[in-house]
Amino acid sequence: MDNEKRAERRKKKKMRAVVVFLAIAVVVAGAFLVMGAYKNQDRIDKVIAKADKFQKSYFYDRALDVLKEDKSLYDPDDEDDPVTQKINEIQKAKKELVKYDGFVEHIFFHSLIVYPQLAFDDKGHPALGYNAWMTTASEFKKMLPLLQERGYILYPIEEVCNIDKETGKVKPKDIYLPKGKKPLIISIDDVDYYDYMKPDGFAGRLVVDKNGKVATEVKTPEGKTETTYDGDVMPILDRYVEKNPEFSWQGYKGIVATTGYQGAFGYRITDGLPKTEEWREEVKEISKALRKSGWDIACHSYTHDGYLKDADVSLGSMKSDIDRWKSNIEPYVGETAIYISPYGFQYMSGSTAHRYIVDSGFHIFCPVSNIRKLSFYKDVMVSPRVNIDGYKMMLAPQEVNEYYFDVNKVLDDARPPFDAESVV
Ligand SMILES: [Zn+2]
Repeated sequence: MDNEKRAERRKKKKMRAVVVFLAIAVVVAGAFLVMGAYKNQDRIDKVIAKADKFQKSYFYDRALDVLKEDKSLYDPDDEDDPVTQKINEIQKAKKELVKYDGFVEHIFFHSLIVYPQLAFDDKGHPALGYNAWMTTASEFKKMLPLLQERGYILYPIEEVCNIDKETGKVKPKDIYLPKGKKPLIISIDDVDYYDYMKPDGFAGRLVVDKNGKVATEVKTPEGKTETTYDGDVMPILDRYVEKNPEFSWQGYKGIVATTGYQGAFGYRITDGLPKTEEWREEVKEISKALRKSGWDIACHSYTHDGYLKDADVSLGSMKSDIDRWKSNIEPYVGETAIYISPYGFQYMSGSTAHRYIVDSGFHIFCPVSNIRKLSFYKDVMVSPRVNIDGYKMMLAPQEVNEYYFDVNKVLDDARPPFDAESVV
């Protein structure tokens, strides 16, 4: 009897152990399942967020690739599946792009005035010139959301035309944008930080920060040198697009134009100074960083000399200028098909000097004019540009308002009264 009882007790004990073990196993398995589901949800959220970022910048195909990459994360037959929903949303947005057939706006600036109190103090370079041809950093920042409200999207100039690499022939290229949106090209002239501007409240040069971003080196009115992200158009626009990706077609920003007679981007790389080699490397780094963040680089002539704008400029003068840019600047900023004419001179197809510009590989020519229409010649596209500076904003506010923004919301109070008669 005792033995039987003992055996019974042992059996019960065993059973209890099995039950406890099973219970633990169920709990552990459950925890794994929950964790697995949680981990899956986490991956789904991440994939959707990544695709959403691409979609906002109009990278529809990349967004779709991200969503479709891991087939285990979605069920294409389930309409309520969040990944499937996102795929459908992006496919719809892509299908809804419409062919744009209006003007292609191209506006331009010079390097921005960071400290108006220095630019307009009339010490050094006359305030009148700065007041007419320059824009302040504060004005530039204010106009960006207004341009965005008007439906503009920064668009790459090399995507409005097709350049045949073999023949050099240039043809218009179709532009597809979301309904109601308009392409906008922005360029900045003379990104050289010339000596005469240095004491007048402009940036002194461009630099690349430790994260590979382009920044500006600016001297404060107190004489302190600072690295900033609002010392010129480029870092301001880079930051704006980071926060407002919808303002830029696939991350594109604009065109930075450089001359050569005082180097490029604030580095005197053409004077044979002791630091020339070091500076050339800097210019290369800056160019790489600019291109990476959506900027093109353009030739704005080497000398920026007045004779270049003459209708009868000789082939010899033009050749000498272009060849100098090609040999002294291009090796450091990289090849480009874009020429931004100094003084905004117009392209004349009959001029042998202008032919030389195109024959040197510049198939995109950007003069200044408010006709707002792209022209196509055999092997060159002409993209006329409108200046958005003090002159335009103060003398033609209606035009600025009609096409871009309300001048009253932008114009800097720090500007002195404008005497248009004195501007040549
Ligand atoms: Zn210029």
